[in-house]
Amino acid sequence: TSEKHDVIIIGAGAAGLMCAATAGYRGRRVLVIDHANKPGKKILMSGGGRCNFTNLNSTPANFLSDNPHYCISALKRYTPQHFLDLVERHGIEHEEKAAGQLFCKDSSKEILNMLLTECEWAGAEVRLETGVKAISRAANGYQLKTTSGTFSCESLVVACGGLSIPTMGATGFGYDIARQFGLSVLSTRPGLVPFTLHPELKEQLAPLAGVSCPVDVHCNNEHFREPMLVTHRGLSGPAMLQISSFWQPGDTLSINMLPATDIEQDLYQLRKNRPQSTVAQYLMQHLPKRFAQALNDLHGWTGPLQGYKNSDIEQAARALGQWAIKPAGTEGYRTAEVTLGGVDTRQLSSRTMAVLDQPDLHFIGEVADVTGHLGGHNFQWAWASGVAAGNSA
Ligand code: FAD
Repeated sequence: TSEKHDVIIIGAGAAGLMCAATAGYRGRRVLVIDHANKPGKKILMSGGGRCNFTNLNSTPANFLSDNPHYCISALKRYTPQHFLDLVERHGIEHEEKAAGQLFCKDSSKEILNMLLTECEWAGAEVRLETGVKAISRAANGYQLKTTSGTFSCESLVVACGGLSIPTMGATGFGYDIARQFGLSVLSTRPGLVPFTLHPELKEQLAPLAGVSCPVDVHCNNEHFREPMLVTHRGLSGPAMLQISSFWQPGDTLSINMLPATDIEQDLYQLRKNRPQSTVAQYLMQHLPKRFAQALNDLHGWTGPLQGYKNSDIEQAARALGQWAIKPAGTEGYRTAEVTLGGVDTRQLSSRTMAVLDQPDLHFIGEVADVTGHLGGHNFQWAWASGVAAGNSA
């Protein structure tokens, strides 16, 4: 005998919990199962422990997908303001950090507790430490053999997330389910992830470790003007995490170290007005002192500017404005915030998140090929896709 539910959701993460509450409020009997011992582990670790739960400026342009129009409908129907209203109804204090990025003032635990409270109010049950052994089609829906018994449901929602941070319970199970039911899965790779460097460059940059400065980084016709952080492992900080989602192995990054200035003009002016000054002194006007010195030494600039020919100035300006760095790779799924690629959304309904010819099988959140920029967009997709499926499952 199997325990019957209307809706079973696999994955008690951001998207799964949001979907569960939404379907529960519609009067559906909902069961959420998760193999982990706790729900929402990624919510807890997100945003440095304070969960960047949405972005007020989120638009479809903030998402990467092979099928860029897919996300529009769900994002339009469930907006950042809708989620903010929910957060405020629960009395959670929040603050806006960088433009539009909303964080908890206190702890990401509050967002998880809010979702679990909503599930409880909606009558949706969450069962943990429950692994799925097999899924099969049944007369009127699906049957799931799990480590806690056999369950059946009319609608199945796959909310297993992506591959990033395997130590937090990430698996490729959602992709396996998609393949089992005949869907294609686009190749996956880590996104929003720090870069690693070749040993020589890593050594050269070692003196810069720990220093952050605003840059404009370019790669593959995309660019981000945000802070870069040099670490003892490589390059990180918002600028690098953002561009990593557009980077392919072998690509070179072009980094403008002084995006707010016209470097070449500045250096000509300086040579004319204060011929005794050096490039290092110029850099110190714009960058943290230690960083400026290390950057100068890396490029080997010495002597006063009056000794620089025009071509030397052009070369220095290029080295600073279009610093070409070829990363060795990325830190991979071990530290990536998201997984790019996933279930091909061309096979899904943008209204219900269900498979077009299997309307009782839904894929939501990160398991689908929709990936947000850094800054709260990924959670916004989890909420919006969860609500879309929860209104239909
Ligand atoms: P998840 O939240 O990952 O949930 C998936 C659930 O499925 C998990 O509970 C997992 O245990 C369960 N599961 C997996 N495999 C199985 C299986 N085989 N059987 C049963 N259950 C299974 N995004 C933002 O917008 N803002 C941020 O501040 C932010 N910070 C982040 C910080 C870090 C360190 C990381 C790693 C990510 C961050 N993200 C952030 C991204 C965000 O966490 C994800 O995009 C989001 O959690 C995806 O939601 P999801 O529900 O699809 O998947």
